Amino acid sequence: MIDALNATPQEAFETLLAGNRRFVTGYPEHPNQDAARRTEIAPAQSPFAVLFGCSDSRLAAEIIFDRGLGDLFVVRTAGHVAGPEVLGSIEYGVGVLGTPLVVVLGHDACGAVAATRAAVADGTTAGGYVRDVVEKVTPSVLAARAAGHTEDAEFVAEHIRHTVDLLLDRSRALAEAVEEGRVAVVGLSYRLADGTAHLVTTRGLDLSAGAAA
Ligand SMILES: [Zn+2]
Repeated sequence: MIDALNATPQEAFETLLAGNRRFVTGYPEHPNQDAARRTEIAPAQSPFAVLFGCSDSRLAAEIIFDRGLGDLFVVRTAGHVAGPEVLGSIEYGVGVLGTPLVVVLGHDACGAVAATRAAVADGTTAGGYVRDVVEKVTPSVLAARAAGHTEDAEFVAEHIRHTVDLLLDRSRALAEAVEEGRVAVVGLSYRLADGTAHLVTTRGLDLSAGAAA
C-alpha cells in the first residue's frame, strides 16, 4: 500500500509499474476497488500520480495499471494534447493534491498521431475542433519527420517527449516542483497488443535505484 502523501516520485513510479506488470501477466489484484476504500477516501483524495494520457478507449488508466479509487488523478484528451484546462488540471494534482508523479501516457497506433501524419503528408486538415487536436500534434510529427523517422513507434515516442517538454515549458508550477525534487514527470508509451508500458523519457526521476520499464 503506497502512502501517497509521503511517497517519493521514485516510489510512485515503482507502484505504477508494479501494477502494469500485474495487468500484463494476467494476475491483477484490483486494489482499492471495494466499499471500504470508497468510504475511506470519501472525505478527501490523495492520489499518488497524475496520469495525463490519450483518450483512446483501450488505454483505461486504472485497468492497465491495476489501481482503484483514489489512486490516479486522470486527465485524458485525444492524442494527449494539452491546452489551458489540461495544464490547470495537472497543476491542481501537483499543487493542491500533492501528487509526486506526473505521467504522460501515449500509445502505439494512436489515431491522433496517425491523423496528423496523414494531414502533414497530404497537406489536408481536419474539420471542427478535431483540427485543434491535429494542430497540437503537428509539431511532434514535424520533428519526427525532420529526424528521419518512419516508424509508428518513433512518431509516438517523439510526441510523448514533446508533450513532457510542453508541460514543463508551459507550467512554471510543475517545472519548479520538478526542480525542487518534489515531483517527477515521466513519459510512457503503451503497447495495445501486450499491455506493456515503456519508459520514453523522464524529468526529475533517479533511475539508478533500479526501476526500469
Ligand atoms: Zn491515442
